[in-house]
Amino acid sequence: MSSLAKNYNRRKIAFKSGKGSFLYATNGKKYLDFVQGIAVNSLGHSNPYLIKAINKQAKKVWHVSNAFIIPEGEKLAKRLTQKTFADFIFFQNSGTEATEAAIKVARRYFYSKGKPNKNRILCIKNSFHGRTIAAIFASGSKKMTEGFGPKVPGFDHIEFKKSKPRFPNIKRKIKKNTAAIMVETIMGEGGIKSIPDKCLKYLRKICNEKKILLILDEVQCGIGRSGDFFAFEKSKVKPDIVPIAKGIGGGFPLGAVLMTKKVAKAMSPGSHGSTFGGNPLAMNVGNAVLDQIFKKGFLKNVRKISKYFHIKLNKLKKDYPNIFKEIRGKGLLIGMQLHFDQSKFIRSLEKNYLLTIRASENVIRILPPLNVKKNEIDLALKIIEKVCREYK
Ligand SMILES: *Cc1c(COP(=O)(O)O)cnc(C)c1O
Repeated sequence: MSSLAKNYNRRKIAFKSGKGSFLYATNGKKYLDFVQGIAVNSLGHSNPYLIKAINKQAKKVWHVSNAFIIPEGEKLAKRLTQKTFADFIFFQNSGTEATEAAIKVARRYFYSKGKPNKNRILCIKNSFHGRTIAAIFASGSKKMTEGFGPKVPGFDHIEFKKSKPRFPNIKRKIKKNTAAIMVETIMGEGGIKSIPDKCLKYLRKICNEKKILLILDEVQCGIGRSGDFFAFEKSKVKPDIVPIAKGIGGGFPLGAVLMTKKVAKAMSPGSHGSTFGGNPLAMNVGNAVLDQIFKKGFLKNVRKISKYFHIKLNKLKKDYPNIFKEIRGKGLLIGMQLHFDQSKFIRSLEKNYLLTIRASENVIRILPPLNVKKNEIDLALKIIEKVCREYK
């Protein structure tokens, strides 16, 4: 009997090692892993470059505290600001810490402007921003908040619809005390639903009009996953605050909040902190991940190979219209929406040695490493087609 608490519904499978896109299970079988720790292992398993980087740093110094200057963190922050909209950054250890810290920055900004009551955050109903007490109430999902009352105040919700208007009544939902709109650029857990560029622009416009902040949660869709470093880049929208995590650590727990100078000014010494956040070990891994992702041609290849994957999946959808409802997502953040509950299909893929994971709305998430090879995508397509053919 397991002594682990029962808050997960675990599949009966464990792994002894991994290499690139593959995992080797204790049952002796080799699996094509298109979960990659839920979009975390951006460079695959046991990446030699990351192994070298972490070992090198492990022999020097792991952890010192933010009471001191951490050169590896200075370097990582500098690189992220040079490549993005952000002017300042602080580091956390996870996605939910990053989204919470993003909320703190937004509130503190208006506090510093003499408007402490301007503190409400407008989020999309049934979105996902993590599992801390505040983040679950930000998400506004009944499933996640059930039994965890009292309700954390300060969050309002809008709908995100496929039909127009995409955000019904959004202007009415922005009150005098609204500080920010916070949305995932691509809703991950919610079923790989992209907010179209036009809608992102619209959100930016409203935020400008109402003089409130725009927070884009890129914890899942950021760091190259969409084919651009950030999923909002093509829209040309400039957010005020962006929490990141998952992909930036390549498998090591690492999160961060990126922000503009305007809002960063509100965060004075002592206003926020983290014991582990930004330690030399994590920072060195983050730098090593960026070494790869910032390499010339890396993201171009993500765009190229994912385009191929999307075209092939859409062809499968045409061939099996009774199974697939929609192929969703951008880059290597892919959702196959089925017409029916997806659990059995995921199990069938697993029986054929392809690992995938669910999302809401009957969606099967496909999350290869960003350096996935074409023949690995072809193998996945072959397995998906085989399951389609045999599916009853
Ligand atoms: C995974 C995720 C989080 C939470 O990250 P954790 O590291 O699990 O705390 C927050 N926001 C989004 C969009 C996510 O996908």
